[in-house]
Amino acid sequence: MDYYLNLENAYQRLLKEYKEHQSLVVAYDFDNTVYDYHKNGWQFNDVIQLLQNLKSIGCYLIVFTANEDIEFVKKYCNDNQIPFDAINEQPPFYKSESRKIYYNVLLDDRAGLREVYDMLFRLVRNKRNNLNH
Ligand SMILES: [Mg+2]
Repeated sequence: MDYYLNLENAYQRLLKEYKEHQSLVVAYDFDNTVYDYHKNGWQFNDVIQLLQNLKSIGCYLIVFTANEDIEFVKKYCNDNQIPFDAINEQPPFYKSESRKIYYNVLLDDRAGLREVYDMLFRLVRNKRNNLNH
């Protein structure tokens, strides 16, 4: 498979960036990624736990959402111990007028959530176990 479509290469790229900065900019979607927008009875505990773990290893977290009720988003995240550093804002260390939010990786139920979840889960696990891969 082409290099850029290979999941192992995508993981190695993230790992290299993490090692370089001891951080990653992780953007995450709100509706149906951490919040049950359609009231399906879904919990999102795995993603929430992952976000807590990413925070604990130094990642910078941005809620990247189309939800217009930012106060609700903020309150929901706070009430549910979902860590975030910004909502729909560029990281302060990234100087750009671009409308696209800068991130190393995105967790989004409409953008390969499972693959990204697996990569970040692996990164956290390996960091915690001092494994170099
Ligand atoms: Mg969504």
